[in-house]
Amino acid sequence: MPLFSRNGGDQTLLRKVNLSAVLNNLRQYTSISRTDLAELTGLNKATITRLVRDLLEHGLVKEVGTRSSAIGSPSILLGLNPNAGYIIGLRLDVDCTLVILTDFAAKTIWHNEENHQPDDSQELIKSNILELINAAIDHVPDKERPILGLGLSLPGLVDEDKGKLLFAPNLGWHDVDMRGWLSEYYKFPIYADNDANLAALGETYFGAGRDCDYVLYVNITYGVGAGIVLGQEILAGKNGVAGEVGHMTVDPNGPLCKCGNQGCWETFISTPAIFRRIRELIEDGNTTSLSDNEMTDFSHLSIPKVVTAAEDGDEVANQVLHETAMNIGLGLASLINILNPNRVILGGYLRPAYPLMMSDIVETVSSRALKWSRDDTDIVIAHHGYEAALRGAIAMIYNHVLTNPVKTMARSGEIENHD
Ligand SMILES: [Zn+2]
Repeated sequence: MPLFSRNGGDQTLLRKVNLSAVLNNLRQYTSISRTDLAELTGLNKATITRLVRDLLEHGLVKEVGTRSSAIGSPSILLGLNPNAGYIIGLRLDVDCTLVILTDFAAKTIWHNEENHQPDDSQELIKSNILELINAAIDHVPDKERPILGLGLSLPGLVDEDKGKLLFAPNLGWHDVDMRGWLSEYYKFPIYADNDANLAALGETYFGAGRDCDYVLYVNITYGVGAGIVLGQEILAGKNGVAGEVGHMTVDPNGPLCKCGNQGCWETFISTPAIFRRIRELIEDGNTTSLSDNEMTDFSHLSIPKVVTAAEDGDEVANQVLHETAMNIGLGLASLINILNPNRVILGGYLRPAYPLMMSDIVETVSSRALKWSRDDTDIVIAHHGYEAALRGAIAMIYNHVLTNPVKTMARSGEIENHD
């Protein structure tokens, strides 16, 4: 529905809202006619014709085919133009940086990654980031078309308004103004959010949450975070840091967490917690294919190795996955009681292990969460693995372009102020 009256309303705002409505429908329905757009948006056909003409002129939309109709001439179908511009997504993680370049239809054109150590200097990691972004820019196929934005996925607390990384416990970074720093090098818009929020958005746009309004995405890696998506929007909270579910206290006397608290949920279900539990069982005298003669650290362990051992009947691997699943279910039961989501998506490094853990997780949730909170909640595994947050970084830029197409069109050429 058009939200603003034309009489005395702000024409620029009216135009922005109407363009955004048209583009969002084109994103969701892939190919539709002007008549469909008029019906879906509630705008009259003359207005749709004008808006579409402008979008075609600025290359954001293109004609993608025709549909024959029983009466009259066939109608022309419209879709988003993949060549409207390019989007760069970058994920900074604890041990690597990944970059992806896509077109306006979110199709991957090029991607790459660079490994680092968590204790490498900030200077070194930042120079890797610049190299990767420059390489992505080099791979833009049509230099005439604009780069619509750079989306940054960061491993910690992020002030998304300012594009600032507040705290990344596993990298030891504090108060790094990522947008300010990168804006010295690049002119295109730069947005940042944390990896769990962006993985949630990536799954909602392009994966397991596509058809859902209330999505809780739980990201289990070195740490544990969550993204809460209502409609197509992330629930950010007052300071932009909502969803830090990993730091819910589940045992007041439990292990010390990196945040300074004791017994946080992540000290029971993160990957270091799983490896620590395997070591405890080995030190207690249990035998397992996962032990190593020189077990001074866990560099030889990985979740896929634990999964393979469990599938081969290794008792230690099975016990640890069983205990972890119960602990995941314990925390999820509380979150489901609080949020009443219609879908819970489990992602992160534990993704290969979820098929073995799912029945224990579901059973724990069923026995602990309120019936009314959990009745319509599915618990599913994320479609995207490591790349979910990268897809989310792309979705974040997409969101900005679709909700403010006037700005994008202004950047790709002049724009007249009429609807
Ligand atoms: Zn904590």
